[in-house]
Amino acid sequence: MTSAIRLSGVSRHYGAVKAVDNIDLDIAEGEFFAMLGPSGSGKTTTLRLIAGFERPTVGEIQIYGEVAQGIPPYKRPVNTVFQDYALFPHLNVRDNVAYGLMVAGVAKYARHKSADDALEMVALGAYGNRSPSELSGGQRQRVALARALVNKPKALLLDEPLGALDLKLREQMQEELKALQRSLGITFVFVTHDQGEALSMADRVAVFNEGRIVQIGTPEDIYYRPESPFVADFVGSSNVLPPRFVAPLIGRQVYGSLRPEAVYLADQGHPAQVTSVSFLGTATRVSITVGDVAMTMLLPKGAAIPKAGDTVQVNWDDADLHLMAAP
Ligand code: ADP
Ligand code: MG
Repeated sequence: MTSAIRLSGVSRHYGAVKAVDNIDLDIAEGEFFAMLGPSGSGKTTTLRLIAGFERPTVGEIQIYGEVAQGIPPYKRPVNTVFQDYALFPHLNVRDNVAYGLMVAGVAKYARHKSADDALEMVALGAYGNRSPSELSGGQRQRVALARALVNKPKALLLDEPLGALDLKLREQMQEELKALQRSLGITFVFVTHDQGEALSMADRVAVFNEGRIVQIGTPEDIYYRPESPFVADFVGSSNVLPPRFVAPLIGRQVYGSLRPEAVYLADQGHPAQVTSVSFLGTATRVSITVGDVAMTMLLPKGAAIPKAGDTVQVNWDDADLHLMAAP
């Protein structure tokens, strides 16, 4: 596998703030790679380091085998779609997409041809003469994509590109982006704080916390085999069980994680108090306490549903109790 982007021991410190702290990354050519983490965990800074808008305090970045240090952003074979993708309101869609090429001195015919090709890629081939104000939010987002694609980058860096869209449009754009990435075959580095978005779109996910990468893996790895209580808790609201709960069950002082859908009502099991019940449509979420440990369980449609205040018995399969070392 050829490496598209490689970071070795990269840090970016601002005084005492360790925005990015000693990270290693190896993103393969053609990969859809997500960077997932809470706000302030260093995702945007990492993207800006790759794009060349920031310089590492220490460490080395390689882009398609070339050391990036000293190469200005516009000469790197990557392009960024920013979270705030403001279009020029006084330029039509085609000129918005062609703007960077115009600044670079590309002649009108050639830059319009390139812009139309890029608009074609995002299914807006017929919209070149429109004004941005005549487009929907999703269409404007696609123009921002076309603007980044017009230079034919080898890798596209996307910083929370769907953050401004409402849920329905967001889900539609997730599918479109994924399809676009597959058809173009270029590397996508996609930043998001949304677990579902990262897990559903990416080939691999890096989970960030406090400037560090705490786990890298496939969506299945991250979801089913979190390596720390932080990842288990952040990626999809798993039940994180403290060692004092797990030790009596398996005889080892380790953390456990248990997916809400892995906990079920049983005739024999652990006595639990039901604290609340929420109907979610396709399933029902039941909050319980087992001893002094709070958990949630997700009961499928059609299951018997207890009421708040009930005492029930719950259980899970041994194989679903995932064990983790201390945080
Ligand atoms: P994320 O994109 O994951 O929300 P950022 O990379 O934007 O996180 O920021 C990581 C940390 O670095 C935050 O604590 C942020 O306040 C800090 N930071 C980012 N840029 C600067 C800067 N130019 N000067 C000082 N601190 C910064
Ligand atoms: Mg950010």
